[in-house]
Amino acid sequence: MTSLRDRYLAEIGIPVWRARGGAAGHAPLAPSEPAIEVAMPAALANAAQGTDAWSELQANVRACTLCGLHRGRTQTVFGVGRRDASLFVIGEAPGADEDRQGEPFVGRAGQLLNAMLRAIGLPRAEVYIANILKCRPPNNRDPEPSESTSCTPYLTRQIELVQPRVLLAVGRIAAQWLLQTDTPIGRIRGRALSFGPRNTPLVVTYHPAYLLRSPLDKAKAWTDLCLVKELLSRSS
Ligand code: URA
Repeated sequence: MTSLRDRYLAEIGIPVWRARGGAAGHAPLAPSEPAIEVAMPAALANAAQGTDAWSELQANVRACTLCGLHRGRTQTVFGVGRRDASLFVIGEAPGADEDRQGEPFVGRAGQLLNAMLRAIGLPRAEVYIANILKCRPPNNRDPEPSESTSCTPYLTRQIELVQPRVLLAVGRIAAQWLLQTDTPIGRIRGRALSFGPRNTPLVVTYHPAYLLRSPLDKAKAWTDLCLVKELLSRSS
């Protein structure tokens, strides 16, 4: 009989192997590595606490003109999901679909991200999703360091408010920025790292847009997601 998980894996294009006894499995988890310590940038000055904090933050983002990207945006893309989510997913920047709809990961890459999350039993509505940048870079170019520097305090404030148990950075740009490293994604993915003053466990995986172009790496992304699941169950 096909399990729900097998159906999800099939949906995201990961072939499921069966052990001789018949049980489906996946590659073993990568061992945890010593955490990389990263200083979290200062949170927004004079930020409100409690229930006002989200509306204040949203208003600040909506009105932001800290970098030149505000000139080309249709709207800001703040973030979406449960404000008490155990998993916080961090992408790079809005694309054309996100700029139009005002929500992160709504295009093709977003569909795959949703399927990846469902594969570990976390529907999109259960997690929080945001990007390093809240405005779309022109022609989907990589963020400039100055743009990421201006925008990061919004993200760190979101993380501070959600207080997730695990962070998942999708893609090289988000991962390298959060970890302040040039190390290739292939060497930082698949391990338990940490981020911020709370040492929140951080896992890096491939960007779903990359996985759409390189489906063979979906198997590695699956092991990264299993690590996320494992870290979530350890901290519950
Ligand atoms: N890619 C990202 O990194 N973020 C989005 O919101 C959409 C695509």
